[in-house]
Amino acid sequence: MKIGILSRNQNLYSTRRLMEACEARDHEYKIIDALHCYMNINSTQLSIHLKGEDLKGFDAIIPRIGSSVTFYGCAVLRQFEMMGIYTLNDSVAIQRSRDKLRSLQLLSRKSIGMPITGFASKPGDIKDLLNMVGGAPVVIKLLEGTQGIGVVLAETRKAAESVIEAFMGLKANIMVQEYIKEAGGADIRCFVIGDKVIASMRRQALPGEFRSNLHRGGVASLVRITPDERKTAISAAKAMGLHVAGVDLLRSDRGPLVMEVNSSPGLEGIEFATGHDVAGMIIDYVVKIVSTSRTRTRVKTQ
Ligand code: ADP
Repeated sequence: MKIGILSRNQNLYSTRRLMEACEARDHEYKIIDALHCYMNINSTQLSIHLKGEDLKGFDAIIPRIGSSVTFYGCAVLRQFEMMGIYTLNDSVAIQRSRDKLRSLQLLSRKSIGMPITGFASKPGDIKDLLNMVGGAPVVIKLLEGTQGIGVVLAETRKAAESVIEAFMGLKANIMVQEYIKEAGGADIRCFVIGDKVIASMRRQALPGEFRSNLHRGGVASLVRITPDERKTAISAAKAMGLHVAGVDLLRSDRGPLVMEVNSSPGLEGIEFATGHDVAGMIIDYVVKIVSTSRTRTRVKTQ
């Protein structure tokens, strides 16, 4: 099989592991830097070129699109989709999951558990906004933040008002969220492939820190998830339309609450914490889907 891996850097752990998994299974692969691709769009033929090469003959594309290149990365991915090539996560699902507000709205429509969340741009009544989410303590998040940057815990109402005012001054869109204290500075990352959670880890924040992101010094360990957590993670990935997803959950007194659904979840933390060959599982999944869809098409046309 010929697999394209949309990634900006082949030295990144996740990209390297996907390359190794392709090699171990004798699949041809190519690393494609979406930003360097240029596309021909017209009414008769679509093509994508990279450094003079016409990119064709791929059986599948695995997108690893960083959040800073979502727009162009998804445009290139969409071009592959329009050329009829199977993409592991499609461009619409990636864009959905990148928008934190849109994601939460979609999860809420499916009645999936989440922290009570307010969303605002220039709240005319900050006090009412805070009341709406149950009052302090609250977590205030910049809509565009990643890796825990722009996520602030305001323990008192006064602190919350000041932070909201400061973010408003920056003309930023914000989320104001119920603080899940009982999570104890930990979250659970469930790695979903297809309709299964194939690996999960618990990330614990450093003492004095409530954000458990590994980039913020959080420590990952193996965890056994409950059937309810498994079901929630699978439903969350499905609500986004993602076939591979990293679903982040908080353990609360009222059950698992989804914080975020990641469309390009990193492999390093989860492979180290669990010892699983997650990259291999992704390639096996891609091969299974592409082969099954070919068999179906053959049967249909016979
Ligand atoms: P980012 O997308 O930047 O990683 P998150 O929304 O995932 O931001 O928040 C970063 C971390 O902060 C989470 O992994 C979690 O540990 C903690 N956190 C976020 N929201 C809450 C909340 N409502 N209650 C408790 N802890 C939270």
